[in-house]
Amino acid sequence: LYDTLFARHAGRTDPLIRRPDGTALSYDAFLRLAAQIAHVLTAAGLAPGDRVAVQVEKSPEALAIYAACAQAGLIFLPLNTAYTADEMTYFVENSGAGLLICDPGAADTLSPVAARCGAKVETLASDGTGSLADKAAAAPDSFETAQRGETDLAAFLYTSGTTGRSKGAMLTQRNLLSNAAALAEAWHFSEADVLLHALPIFHTHGLFVACNVTLTAGGSMIFLPKFDLDAVLAALPDATTMMGVPTFYTRLLSDDRFDRDLAGHMRLFVSGSAPLLAETHRQFEARTGHRILERYGMTETNMNTSNPYDGERRAGTVGLPLPGVEAKVCDPATGETLPDGEIGVLEVRGPNVFEGYWGMPEKTAEELREDGFLITGDLAQRSGDGYVTIVGRNKDLVISGGYNVYPKEIEDVLDALPGIVESAVIGVPHPDFGETPVAVLVPEPGTAPDLEAIRAAVADKLARYKHPSSYEVVDALPRNTMGKVQKAELRRRFG
Ligand code: ATP
Ligand code: MG
Repeated sequence: LYDTLFARHAGRTDPLIRRPDGTALSYDAFLRLAAQIAHVLTAAGLAPGDRVAVQVEKSPEALAIYAACAQAGLIFLPLNTAYTADEMTYFVENSGAGLLICDPGAADTLSPVAARCGAKVETLASDGTGSLADKAAAAPDSFETAQRGETDLAAFLYTSGTTGRSKGAMLTQRNLLSNAAALAEAWHFSEADVLLHALPIFHTHGLFVACNVTLTAGGSMIFLPKFDLDAVLAALPDATTMMGVPTFYTRLLSDDRFDRDLAGHMRLFVSGSAPLLAETHRQFEARTGHRILERYGMTETNMNTSNPYDGERRAGTVGLPLPGVEAKVCDPATGETLPDGEIGVLEVRGPNVFEGYWGMPEKTAEELREDGFLITGDLAQRSGDGYVTIVGRNKDLVISGGYNVYPKEIEDVLDALPGIVESAVIGVPHPDFGETPVAVLVPEPGTAPDLEAIRAAVADKLARYKHPSSYEVVDALPRNTMGKVQKAELRRRFG
């Protein structure tokens, strides 16, 4: 991993990371910093295979910890900056991390957590200062790369916790490298690319998709601390590509400054982590002339499918399996492959599929079949020409009076109605039917939806058992940092 992604670029004085203030960190400076950090990590007593838990703000230095772990053969374990001390206890304990790197501001609260789990603590602030940086500055800027192979673990990445407690996905060097190579090629990344990077780097999208693809191609990234509309608009002229969650694109579209003049020169916009509404896809094309390229993946696998770079980017679909990845739609009860067009659970197999959940053998056995197929938990449909459409989560399926009700089918009808921005359909307990669908609506700002008209439109289009029993109106759907709608929260609220 270190040789393929990092060492190759040694001596390059051109930028790997461009900061919004116009300064840059060259590949060479980045690699020397990573080597210094690798010395600090090994001086803390860590040996190949040990885990380094990292909860720090996004910065070039934070990314250098990833490179340092790769060079020292350590397992990199990035954690969401939103996690509280209580949540952190679970992750540090669960992973058995030997070192926790956190923000200096959090050191007082997290030191007892680390002490309880037997982990040491170092700090790193968003401006690159802290105890880690101090020690690194005093260390040599070259490091002898640890010998590791493709089946060695490179990272534990915890899932987003959308459907339950976050699970630590064990990813090997081969998992990461095979996917980075497949994506860089599929999306035509080159040294000339400048990626506008506004995603967090504790999640697979901003870390492995964005950074590994850039490192594979040898391009550079404009590192923004987060998605800030003004900052993104200001950085766009210097970028060639952008990766985002769907909310990035809806927020860009909400601003008139985002137009063909500003976006026309871009080579590629990629979307993922949550479903991109077909409507957003069409609006984006009308505004900019670009068709967003939507892809689909998960923490456990990196990316599985992608719309084609050259062929048809079909709105509402996540495209075709990537080279080397097999995908099939299966009957959830029997595991039998279903004919094209039918809805079932998506299963995937390939060099990208993880080793299992750390410390959760039963969970791993439930989801990872002996033949190597991973049961993704996503419901999907395959078209005759191989395009995959994600229909939602198996866990969000509503079974009402014995009938399967797919929330997305109802959401599609509601989203298409005038005055409705978006919707979410959830299942809530019902005394007769077991469960019944409830629709949560987001109307155009400042308007009230005409529920009579909505009921009539739904009655026109959908069988009776699919009609929502009630409609709830909210200003916005609850989402996490990755733009994922939190249906569990909606079920708690409206259940
Ligand atoms: P947990 O597994 O802990 O419940 P999570 O599944 O949300 O959380 P991630 O690994 O971050 O954790 O997200 C992967 C999921 O995101 C996929 O299984 C899928 O449901 C969803 N997803 C990713 N890309 C897309 C996409 N383009 N369209 C629809 N859904 C997507
Ligand atoms: Mg998941």
